[in-house]
Order: sequence, then C-alpha cells, then structure tokens
Amino acid sequence: MFSQINPAASDTVLPDRVDVAIIGGGIAGTAAAYSLAKQGHRVVLIEKGRIAGEQSSRNWGWCRTQNRDERELPLQLLSMQLWERLSAEAGAELGFRRSGLIYATRSETELASWSAWIDMARQYQVRNTVLSPAETRALTPGNEQDWIGGIHAPTDGRAEPAMAAPALADAARALGAVVLQNCAVRGLDIRGGQVAGVITERGRIAADRVLCAGGAWASMFCRRHGIDLPQAGIRSTVFATTPGPEVTPGGLVTPDFTISRRLDGSYIVAAQNRGQMEVTPQGIRYARQFWPTFKTRRKSLTVGVGRSAVSGPEAMTGAWSFDKPTAMERHRIYAPAPNPAVAGPALAKLKAAYPALSGLGVGGVWAGWIDLTPDSIPVISAVEQLPGFFLATGFSGHGFGIGPGAGQLAAELVIGRAPSVDPTPFRYSRFTDGSRINAPGMM
Ligand SMILES: Cc1cc2nc3c(=O)[nH]c(=O)nc-3n(C[C@H](O)[C@H](O)[C@H](O)COP(=O)(O)OP(=O)(O)OC[C@H]3O[C@@H](n4cnc5c(N)ncnc54)[C@H](O)[C@@H]3O)c2cc1C
Repeated sequence: MFSQINPAASDTVLPDRVDVAIIGGGIAGTAAAYSLAKQGHRVVLIEKGRIAGEQSSRNWGWCRTQNRDERELPLQLLSMQLWERLSAEAGAELGFRRSGLIYATRSETELASWSAWIDMARQYQVRNTVLSPAETRALTPGNEQDWIGGIHAPTDGRAEPAMAAPALADAARALGAVVLQNCAVRGLDIRGGQVAGVITERGRIAADRVLCAGGAWASMFCRRHGIDLPQAGIRSTVFATTPGPEVTPGGLVTPDFTISRRLDGSYIVAAQNRGQMEVTPQGIRYARQFWPTFKTRRKSLTVGVGRSAVSGPEAMTGAWSFDKPTAMERHRIYAPAPNPAVAGPALAKLKAAYPALSGLGVGGVWAGWIDLTPDSIPVISAVEQLPGFFLATGFSGHGFGIGPGAGQLAAELVIGRAPSVDPTPFRYSRFTDGSRINAPGMM
C-alpha cells in the first residue's frame, strides 16, 4: 500500500505550440513549470502517469543542508528560501516546516565526518551544531538508545511529498501552464539538428525548448536520441506507521532507523543500509562509471537481480517507434515492489528505542526507484549536442529538498536568464569532456 497523493488538476487539450515543454511531473518538473509560468512563458507539463506518482511522493520529505555535497549547498539554500514562501505563493499547503533534523550516532568516525561537514558549511552561514551525548539525549526525549553524540540541524526540515509537487503543478496551471497527465512523451521532434517539439502518445506539441525532468526514465529517453546519460537505480523501501505520539517534530537519524514525522502524526520509517542495487541492462552499460561510488557505498547496499532487469526504466536496450505504445505507457507509475524484510524489524527497533511508540502499527509499505549519477549530484543543464534540449534529473536520492531551487535553475537555463546559483557543477558535459570529479556524496 502506498500513501495517498494529492490529486493535481489536468488539461485534456494539447496545445499546438508552447515556449517550453517539460517532460515529467515530479518535484523538478513541477517546480520548473511553476517558475516558467510565473514569468509568463507558455509551458506544457507532460506526465505519463500522475503528478508525483514516482520518487517525488515516495520519499521521506527531508529538506536538508546537513551532509549535503558542497557543490549542491548554494542550490539547497536557495531551495530553503523558496520552500518557505511557496505554500503562501501557491495558495496551497506544501507541508514545509523547519522542524529540525537530528543525527545521533555511536560511531566516532561518523561523528567526525558530520562535524567536518559543519566546519565546511560555516562559510555558507549554515549553523548546524555538534551535540554532546547529554545534548543528544536532551533532543531525543523518550529514546532509550545510547549515543556518543550527534548533530542538530535546527533550520533544516521537511515538506510533505504527497502534497508538494501536486500543489506546484496546480499553481503553475493557475498561472497559465497546461498540465497533461496520463500522457507519455514518446520522443523528441528534431528538425535540422535542433529540438522542434515533443511527440506524445496524443500527438505532437511544437516547442523550441524541451526540458526532460523524467527522473529514473531520463537515461533511457536520452539514449533513444543518441545522448549518453549515465544513470543507475537503487530500489529503496520505506514504510509509514499509524499516527502516534510526537517523539520528534522533524526527522531523526539513528544507526538502526530513520524516522520522519508527518503532518498527520504518523512517521515514515527507513531501515539503515537497506538500499537494493539491481543488475539491469542499463546498470551494466554504466557499471564502470558507477564503480567508484558503488565501492564507497558497498556496505549500505545489497545487490541482486529483480524485475527491473526485464521491465521498467533500465530494461530497455533498443530504439522504439514513436507511433506505438512504449515502455513509458506500460509503466504509467513505476512502483517497484517493496522489500518485505524491511518493515517488521525496523518497527521492532523503533518500538524498542521508544516505548512511547509501542502502540504503532504499519500504515503502508512502499518502494521508490532512486536515480543516481556517478558523482551523486544532479544534471541541471543544456545538452550542447542537441540545441533546445535541457535536463533536470539524476538527483541521486536527495532531490526532493533541493527540488524548488533545481526547478528554478532549470527554468533560468532554459530561457537564458542569469542563473540564481552557479550551474557549473551540474553541467551535462562533465560526463562527456572527462572533467567529472568522482565524489561518493551522501544520499
Ligand atoms: C524512499 C526514498 C526516500 C527519499 N528521501 C528523500 C528525502 O528525504 N529528501 C530528498 O531530498 N530526497 C529524497 N529522495 C529522493 C527524491 O525523492 C528524488 O530525488 C526526487 O523526488 C526526484 O524528483 P524528480 O522530479 O527528478 O523525479 P520523479 O519524482 O521520479 O519524477 C519524474 C517523473 O517523470 C515522469 N516521466 C518520465 N518519463 C516520462 C515521459 N517520457 N513522459 C512523461 N512523463 C515521464 C515519471 O512518470 C515521473 O513522474 C528519496 C527517494 C526515495 C525513493
């Protein structure tokens, strides 16, 4: 069972021509659509299933600076400012609260690495603090685990994944954007070596600029047009509890579980180290590029073969025709099966740590397919080899919190406006010109 996603309104009539066509109605695509519509551009947002059906509704909702790759930090800080005003601006609740995040640990190495991050982030005016064991205990009332210390990120927080992207899509639509759901983009219309529009399952839409914010499907989509985008997936299982007493207002990371308190009083719970990397045709294609990251994260992953080898965004190897149904239509919402071994043990550990939560039950279990890049930061960029084509994808397991800024930055690049933050780290060309720096990053 999966959380209820707020419905977003849809249009039925395809526009003949727009300024920008956006593929994918996750947080990146909806935020870009909102930003473009706000500036008066004619936009169509095209989603093969429903707005936020994939990663953008399946995540924990964390909007964090702590432990974020330094290359993403300016964009995350911009996103935090946007999150603060988006509910009021959009006239709809996105669920954002600066409810604070706490990281508690029993590992000296872990604490040292988090502290080093805090030292680095001071130059960006991020004021997260290192906690003593007593301070960690004081911030985790009712918790019976033992800590050697922790981290407090008081201005970090979370938004509600079931609400945020639908609210942005509706806000974009209210500003004039056309929103199409249940409408897959089968391919790009390319004329004279540049983008001239998109070909959807319902027909063609002319557009000189196309932004692909297709999440885990972006690599396959690009490959169909001769564009190489290294991307690999991890299946990640989480579950929601039934509502219960508040033990933390925001999020808490412990060595045994991570919990995130939702507005309805339930918790999203994730077990540590239970990401599943599956062998897929696309994974094999990019194995060499992902090898350094994989080695760094080996302990936090299991590796196996699942349905993703034969079905889904990483299974397609060949080209497809634009006049027949495609894999995108066969998977309106890609919903990988959750790992059945996660919820029971994690709930037992949560209850052992918090006797006050002993009455909690499992409210729903689901999985999401996280799309990674080899250096664990996204691509938000023009694709130079195909004029008019842009990407906002590869958010590597932490794209929800950075989504509003990522959408705004993508919009700025698409319309050639001065970017709010330096887009250089996110350039597509780092994968083609040999300049990519491998960094393990943190998901
Ligand atoms: C379990 C889990 C926990 C996570 N926790 C966090 C967290 O706490 N904080 C955080 O910041 N991030 C978190 N993430 C990561 C975050 O959810 C993603 O990075 C983010 O949602 C990616 O957004 P997106 O818009 O790029 O992709 P998506 O949300 O996946 O959206 C892409 C959309 O494109 C559509 N699409 C693809 N191809 C086509 C096509 N050809 N035509 C039409 N539509 C198409 C898809 O249907 C999909 O809806 C988590 C992820 C998971 C799975």
